[in-house]
Amino acid sequence: MSEIPDFPKGGNMAYLAHHYGLAHTDCWCMKCEQDAKNELHEKGELDLMGMISNFMHLCPDCGNKRCPRATFHEHACTGSNKPGQTGSAYA
Ligand SMILES: [Zn+2]
Ligand SMILES: [Zn+2]
Repeated sequence: MSEIPDFPKGGNMAYLAHHYGLAHTDCWCMKCEQDAKNELHEKGELDLMGMISNFMHLCPDCGNKRCPRATFHEHACTGSNKPGQTGSAYA
């Protein structure tokens, strides 16, 4: 089991990815997060995998969780956190 570092408030996923040598270092949309979890599972980093589950998915551009790009990075960034946006998994 690896030592789990303290994360800056809100979770610094780029730091985490760098620390654990993951393939995903910049995008943490829902899709990429799932890929990262699969990778951690293969590496046997189950504690860390659980920890990632507690992070919110945020758009890599605008940082809004309800932006459609937070769900999947190929969706266009709307720069908005309004509820009910097309393509967003958040209501
Ligand atoms: Zn992504
Ligand atoms: Zn966005």
